[in-house]
Amino acid sequence: VLTIEGVWKHFHGHSVLRGIDLEVRPHEVVSLIGASGSGKSTLLRCVNLLETVDDGAIHLDGEELTDPRVNVDQVRRRLGIVFQAFNLFPHMTVLDNITLAPRQVHGVARAEAEEQAHGLLARFGLAAKSKAYPDQLSGGQQQRVAIIRAMATQPRLMLLDEVTSALDPELVVEVLGIIRELKESGMTMVLTTHEMGFCRDISDVVCFLDGGVLLEKGPPEQLFSAPEHPRTREFLRSVV
Ligand code: ATP
Ligand code: MG
Repeated sequence: VLTIEGVWKHFHGHSVLRGIDLEVRPHEVVSLIGASGSGKSTLLRCVNLLETVDDGAIHLDGEELTDPRVNVDQVRRRLGIVFQAFNLFPHMTVLDNITLAPRQVHGVARAEAEEQAHGLLARFGLAAKSKAYPDQLSGGQQQRVAIIRAMATQPRLMLLDEVTSALDPELVVEVLGIIRELKESGMTMVLTTHEMGFCRDISDVVCFLDGGVLLEKGPPEQLFSAPEHPRTREFLRSVV
């Protein structure tokens, strides 16, 4: 579904991504791990077209996203994106946050968008919160709403960047639960995380980035138990 080939990205003469190759197949969960500054968020931002790549190509379902003539809005419509900081619209209720994109970007009728939103809220234990405003919710609830909002447009691919790192530990669990459910429902996801236990549990493939190089990738059992590269071993020792 997603193919990243030989992607390079430079900032001010500094190479942040150095020839990244990665394929993400339908229903697969791929995690990016690595030290701060290793390029994880930049890679997600390249997929989402928030950054342009300096070399290489990214394809989604056969379409080249890195083609300069690509329709950025159309591409983003097929992606669901959630970042570390909950970026819900503060002046809108939970229901309006979730139905905004389906209605305005995808042209879904209000009644249908709301019915779907109520279904998602019920599924993720937030049925009682549809009329609440973001500041009336806990951090974990806000992040769950942000994930539901991203799902409401039925994306082909979800990109999740450190969605638990701004949360207190007891709230992390709720958010991990919703991501686990998404996986069970067959959603294709690329995520970055510092939660190694969760990463091991949920990922089909784990990628270790080091200084913009995808140094090692493999199933979690292999990468966590028998990393091949000394840098991977060093990183895993430092985080566990
Ligand atoms: P973290 O774990 O801290 O989130 P990361 O792996 O996500 O780190 P990135 O945010 O991708 O790292 O950053 C990789 C490198 O690119 C860093 O050195 C960062 O300073 C640099 N960088 C990222 N965005 C920009 C930008 N817009 N301008 C200049 N440098 C940038
Ligand atoms: Mg990051």
